[in-house]
Amino acid sequence: PLRLGSALALVTGAGSGIGRAVSVRLAREGAAVAACDLDGAAARETVRLLGGPGSEKGAPRGAHAAFQADVSEAGAARRLLEQVQACFSRPPSVVVSCAGITRDEFLLHMSEDDWDKVIAVNLKAAAQALVSSGCHGSIINISSIVGKVGNLGQTNYSASKAGVIGLTHTVARELGRHGIRCNSVLPGFIATPMTQKVPQKVLDKVTGMIPMGHLGTPEDVADVVAFLASGDSGYITGASVEVTGGLFM
Ligand code: NAD
Repeated sequence: PLRLGSALALVTGAGSGIGRAVSVRLAREGAAVAACDLDGAAARETVRLLGGPGSEKGAPRGAHAAFQADVSEAGAARRLLEQVQACFSRPPSVVVSCAGITRDEFLLHMSEDDWDKVIAVNLKAAAQALVSSGCHGSIINISSIVGKVGNLGQTNYSASKAGVIGLTHTVARELGRHGIRCNSVLPGFIATPMTQKVPQKVLDKVTGMIPMGHLGTPEDVADVVAFLASGDSGYITGASVEVTGGLFM
């Protein structure tokens, strides 16, 4: 059976990597997908990849729509929600916040702009996505294992991702009684355009530390997001689910 047959899922950062894999996975579970990205063409390409209900390709193409938005901008989430509601005639019941960036630098050399931009996209964007939530449903924030354990050169990124975990806990407390669940997913090292920027030497070192012996795939993360979006996780809220292949147990 389709686990998300009646769901409308809003996915930010849907044009690449984890967000694209999440969009494909949720569509395959029967959800209609509102795919949002800063890069509008990339969001449209994601929608092109989604197809027939419960088939290999998901729900019918007409069931999905692409949206261009910079979710770190003031008021962007409200505008996006209005657009999504106008397009689908209902609010999303699943919100997945995948939009995220890195601007790595050691703390002593980090510019204020690099600090502010990463917090604005990774943390404010997650907070804004929450505004977009409907009156019931499931919110999933993509944090990172780095938010828990830190990582050299990533003070801004790890602070933003730790912030996402705190935000998730508070939203879970505030909205639980309204039937809204809110959980974080903490990926480890996943092979996406984001990690393509990491030098091969570093990736080899990290891979050596992963008990499962390889980087994760965007689909590994999408499988967990689909579970958290569905009723199969109906009594799970405020959780931080690690998808790391065992890195940093
Ligand atoms: P990615 O770079 O492949 O995709 C990120 C997407 O977000 C891009 O399509 C980009 O255009 C979009 N985006 C960036 N800024 C935006 C904005 N202001 N508004 C709207 N969209 C915006 O990266 P990814 O690896 O797929 O990462 C997805 C999420 O997972 C991010 O939050 C990232 O921090 C997190 N994450 C990734 C890894 C990893 O190893 N790849 C590990 C842990 C957490």
